[in-house]
Amino acid sequence: MRYCEKTLIGYMAKSEYIIEVNHVSKQFEDGKFALDDVSLQVKKGEFVTILGPSGCGKTTLLRCIAGFQVASSGDILLKGEDVTKTPPYKRPVNTVFQKYALFPHLNVFNNVAFGLKLKKEDPATIKKKVRQALKMANLTGYEERKVDTLSGGQQQRVAIARAIVNKPEVLLLDEPLSALDLKMRHDMQIELKELHEKLGITFIYVTHDQEEALTLSDRVVVMNEGKIQQTGTPTDIYNEPQNCFVADFIGESNILSGTMIRDRKVEFCGKQFDCIDEGFGENNPVDVVIRPEDIYIWESKVESQKSKADNDDVDPEDRVPKGRFTKWYGEVQSCIFKGVHYEMRVLTPDGYEFLIQDYHEFLPGTEVGMLVRPEDIQIMKKEHHVYNYFDGEVLKNGKVRFLEAEWDVEGKQLEGLEAGDKVQVRVKFRDIDLQDYEEEGTLSGEVHFILYKGNHYHLTIRTDEGYDLYVNTTDVWDDGDRVGIVIKPKDIKIEKVQSDNEEGTKD
Ligand code: ATP
Repeated sequence: MRYCEKTLIGYMAKSEYIIEVNHVSKQFEDGKFALDDVSLQVKKGEFVTILGPSGCGKTTLLRCIAGFQVASSGDILLKGEDVTKTPPYKRPVNTVFQKYALFPHLNVFNNVAFGLKLKKEDPATIKKKVRQALKMANLTGYEERKVDTLSGGQQQRVAIARAIVNKPEVLLLDEPLSALDLKMRHDMQIELKELHEKLGITFIYVTHDQEEALTLSDRVVVMNEGKIQQTGTPTDIYNEPQNCFVADFIGESNILSGTMIRDRKVEFCGKQFDCIDEGFGENNPVDVVIRPEDIYIWESKVESQKSKADNDDVDPEDRVPKGRFTKWYGEVQSCIFKGVHYEMRVLTPDGYEFLIQDYHEFLPGTEVGMLVRPEDIQIMKKEHHVYNYFDGEVLKNGKVRFLEAEWDVEGKQLEGLEAGDKVQVRVKFRDIDLQDYEEEGTLSGEVHFILYKGNHYHLTIRTDEGYDLYVNTTDVWDDGDRVGIVIKPKDIKIEKVQSDNEEGTKD
């Protein structure tokens, strides 16, 4: 019976997905996880792009699908068949690499024909297949050219022709355009999209370039630190980012801390706004994302508007939507022409900074009004809020051990506690001091992720022991900066963790 069910599930999967990655993790010898429980299903004929910053695991995922890497756990199915341990040449996939790996001493025809000749296909078939592949890659007429006389874009097309000559069912492309200049990249993007349509096969494309991902794909998979952060159409990913990482990585955005007052009402920057989101509860902390192009801006005196009620219709200009929108005010700090639009930074009197894009130029020093439509306010569940929490233990010397270090705490916090007691430690994001010199800290670590929240930076610091802690600061740090971590005794709050026994007696 179990066997029948499995067969049925296998059959259903076969009909719907060409690639299934199920809970795949990949751990290298140094113990680091390049992939951490990754699951992904791809339909036949889809163009799926894996997008993420350097080192996030994109190539490792692609190599696991191709068979050049074997997953440490989980399984990979191609056309419903488990290929987790199948060698690359036995998989119905082919790969185009970042470095084209062409043979410089061979001409275009022989580069493309190489694999077919190895397989000892007959010369007439080889000729036919190579001609077809070259035609697909827009290289007809280049058969006799030596590859080292070709431009970067032409070489890339040879690599693509070689990869498609055997008509694979899946084409894997690992940053194939990264060596090309911007203009050539854009031309090749269009060619790749056309090629995908002509061939009708499945493309899995790896890139760290978000614009490329949004332009090319049916679906985008955003990765960070070996994990999938979000999967969706380019519009979903752009308009409905599911977390701060995606919002920050894809396009420009204003990300602010806010409070969901109730359904369809959110507060940020000290004002309440109508929005369209529901289901976040009442008075719960949230993150608010507003794209720079979604903020309307017009010239307006800050001082004269501050006294008016939020919803007063100040009659900006015709291009600004009319209605009872919450408006707020500020002064333009900078204005840069970006080719199509202007990009302004606007500072509110209470210290929040907004990035705004508009076709109109607002020069520094201009006092402006701003509004955003409810549907352009994106609400996200806050991943962490106010406090870091750590597991700790009271030590004999009166200190508390957490994050693999010993910390002084205020004496009164220890009242009623004994050495060996387990405690929960709480430290506010804003109470962690970062020092330029790592030796000045009780711990040292590295700035791992930076999010600008309008009036402060929200940093993730990874300690050398591998723990993450969150820090709110107005100081400016760069990704990768080494830091010393200091927490004052008064800022460390501890609470005894009840053991199971104690809880039992309480009940
Ligand atoms: P990039 O865009 O820079 O190519 P990526 O997102 O493709 O990055 P991967 O090449 O998949 O990232 O690497 C993910 C992580 O795994 C990185 O931290 C990398 O250093 C590590 N890694 C990759 N291959 C190996 C290996 N053979 N041994 C040890 N660690 C590895």
